[in-house]
Amino acid sequence: MAQGLRLVLFGPPGAGKGTQAQLLRDSLKVTHISSGDLFRHHLGQGTELGLRAKEYMNKGELVPDEVTIDIILDKILSVSDEEGFILDGFPRNPHQAEELEKALNGKSRNIDKVVHIEVSEPELLRRLGGRYVCRACQAPHALGEGEDAASKKCDQCGGELYQRDDDGPEAVKKRIEVYNQETMPVLGFYRERGVLADIPGDNTVGQVNKQVMEALGA
Ligand code: ADP
Ligand code: ZN
Repeated sequence: MAQGLRLVLFGPPGAGKGTQAQLLRDSLKVTHISSGDLFRHHLGQGTELGLRAKEYMNKGELVPDEVTIDIILDKILSVSDEEGFILDGFPRNPHQAEELEKALNGKSRNIDKVVHIEVSEPELLRRLGGRYVCRACQAPHALGEGEDAASKKCDQCGGELYQRDDDGPEAVKKRIEVYNQETMPVLGFYRERGVLADIPGDNTVGQVNKQVMEALGA
């Protein structure tokens, strides 16, 4: 039986990980696991996990590892070896990367590839400020000139679009700071293992998708 791809999409908030993950999921038929979507789902349901996560998310800080790691690993380990997965938002610090590796070695194979999407800080700030997300399917959207969120609907499923609480200016600044300090060191972890590919993310969605596919040798 063929083995499914094990991919990590890596990059700062606003790099386009969610958009690229959805394209790859559709073309490669692998499971997309987004830690942020998982937390937002719990938040929407008002679960205890959701309430705990909310205080950190709204400030742009990482949800503590004790809350995060077990629940994400659970999800990852529930995917069959044939199917494979794309991780988006996890691992977000070196400890999470180590725990992921330990859990996957139980499944005898680590991550195949980590694709790092690089985007400059001014571009990130511009994108996050104008980002709207579908309430139903989480697909991210950029509002065009003269469009407003109230009348525009999700182009994937027709759902309602809204601006995330953590896309406000203060939280955005904090998220980028947290990325630089806590998340960037994960790159060294995967570089040592020879699975890291850097690609420029300032291009169009289609161009980035093409480069991700090339990095995967697909
Ligand atoms: P983005 O990548 O655009 O910042 P996400 O949707 O991936 O947004 O994450 C939103 C928030 O969810 C983060 O700012 C953080 O508070 C929390 N979060 C997501 N993934 C993790 C993780 N692996 N560890 C800790 N917190 C996380
Ligand atoms: Zn939608």
